[in-house]
Amino acid sequence: MLVVYHALIIFCYEVGCLNLIILAITHCFCYHVFMTTQQTTRSGWNIVGHEHAIDLLRRTLAAQQVRHAYLFTGPEHIGKRLLAHRFAQTLLCTGGSDLHVAPLDACNTCLSCRKVLHGNHPDLHIISRAPDKQFILIEQVRALQSDSARKTLEGRRNVFIIQGAHEMNLQAANCLLKTLEEPEPDVVLLLTAPDPGLLLPTILSRVQQVPMHLLTSLQIKTALEQQWEVEPEEATLIAALAAGRMGWAVQAVEDEELLVERKAQLEALAKLPMVSKVQRFEIAQRISSDSAKARAVLELWLFWWRDMVLAANKCLDLTVNVDMRNILKQQASRVGTVEAERMVRAILSTMEALDQNVNARTALEVLMLDLPAIKS
Ligand SMILES: [Zn+2]
Repeated sequence: MLVVYHALIIFCYEVGCLNLIILAITHCFCYHVFMTTQQTTRSGWNIVGHEHAIDLLRRTLAAQQVRHAYLFTGPEHIGKRLLAHRFAQTLLCTGGSDLHVAPLDACNTCLSCRKVLHGNHPDLHIISRAPDKQFILIEQVRALQSDSARKTLEGRRNVFIIQGAHEMNLQAANCLLKTLEEPEPDVVLLLTAPDPGLLLPTILSRVQQVPMHLLTSLQIKTALEQQWEVEPEEATLIAALAAGRMGWAVQAVEDEELLVERKAQLEALAKLPMVSKVQRFEIAQRISSDSAKARAVLELWLFWWRDMVLAANKCLDLTVNVDMRNILKQQASRVGTVEAERMVRAILSTMEALDQNVNARTALEVLMLDLPAIKS
């Protein structure tokens, strides 16, 4: 059933009908809530939700048919990196009954598990874009190839996690393709990316895809209360703001500044339609100076304008930014559905442009021109 809803969302997106997308997403959330009334953490994996993805990996382990490459996909902060790490830990765990076979669930106590958890297992390699670089570079993939050619030091496998595999430039991606075409027998590559469409089709055809989906607010709220001991009122707010992304919820709990900064960003965003173009361009310049920050700000804006569409359609109770509903209601009545929908499309286009490494400042300046103007 969930697959049908996801197909419906993709269909609506392709035909460009925003109201239908929102309706489909809402139904999808309701289905999640209906199906999952309790937060669950699979023993050994220590992951909230994502039972479908974990079951898929456990079946692979049970059949002893671990493939050479997996791709974990889903929205930012949903837990892709965590699931890849847990799978790597399970592949390397030596706490099972047979030393030569990976168990279905990592024991979390053997030396190998502890090394993975402490980030110092010699057979687990993490590759990601350097903070000062625009891409994952070919040199990093060549190092991966060199490491994969040598024997494992301790474990039964050489495991490589490529975080944000969509950030490989073309050279790096083509270089990785060689490893995927002729993998060493004991090598397992675990890639993460927001969307499979961001990778080369030749890479996609050589990986097992593991799609991950948004959690329900109830799953997140229950997990925050039970595992992070968050007070119920705060857990309700964070779960609503997380919009299905457990990783974001955990960040919000562990970093108090995140919620404070979010509130400040949204209050500034709410004022944007009232400020001059010169001021908007100054803001675009400020945000675009840090590409990771620009992406995070755009995600926040996307939720804001999605909420604006809902508020303009008298669906305020479905909005994510539950603590900003008064402002949303006021602005939505002045902006209207058509303009709010146009902004959602404009933000999606800007995010796509950033993914394709278009100049961030230019992309944000164009977005600023798209913003509707409200006379104060
Ligand atoms: Zn273990």
